[in-house]
Amino acid sequence: MRRKLAAGNWKMNGLRAALAELEALSQTHPEPDVDILVCPPATLISSAAQTVENANISIGGQDCHAELSGAHTGDISAAMLVDAGASAVILGHSERREDHEESSEMVRAKGRTAQGAGLAAVICLGESLAQREAANTLDIIAGQLAASLPDNSTAENLVIAYEPIWAIGTGMIPNMAQIGEVHDFIRTRLERRFGAGVGRGVRILYGGSVNPGNAAEIFAVPNVDGALVGGASLKAEDFSPIIKALE
Ligand code: PGA
Repeated sequence: MRRKLAAGNWKMNGLRAALAELEALSQTHPEPDVDILVCPPATLISSAAQTVENANISIGGQDCHAELSGAHTGDISAAMLVDAGASAVILGHSERREDHEESSEMVRAKGRTAQGAGLAAVICLGESLAQREAANTLDIIAGQLAASLPDNSTAENLVIAYEPIWAIGTGMIPNMAQIGEVHDFIRTRLERRFGAGVGRGVRILYGGSVNPGNAAEIFAVPNVDGALVGGASLKAEDFSPIIKALE
């Protein structure tokens, strides 16, 4: 049985005052039946980790470098994330693929390093609207899966987030059949690549405009093991009902 995962991606949002949201979240969910992960901006990771020290909430980064240290101004390494108290890192988010021209090969290299440092890699995939309209979604996902995932991944150190680019921050979501089709496809590919044990154990999150109003319907789709939530993870009052819908 895969344990459900509610993951929040704060993106480039959150000053120190936002730690109050984590505090509120930990009070509302003292003993959650699901895993809760919050990925604040790098500047808040260590204080966020302190804030949830006695709570059942994990903290993650939003990116890391493929090397563990060195001359890479402005970058953050997986070792630094671990040192700051993170246990996971989001990699290959479509905003990074676009803003920083990250290729799937780069994502795989980062994932390998992150897993080696002890982090779970939350690897993001997803098609553009043009790709969906051209009926290329499954081909795009297959290519991203093949190139972005580290070879020796396990059910513990790999999470997939299926995030259609056109659904991120837009309020638009695919219909449930479309979500199910992609999640089933990803599951089959994971089993083929990593074997049935690992392939069935890796969690597959849906991401893109998840909110308290649509979460329950999305979570009822087979092979949806949770969500990667952007905008609706910033406030505990929005993220909390999404977590509850998963429980
Ligand atoms: P959104 O973002 O929930 O604001 O659409 C999701 C994401 O980009 O991870």
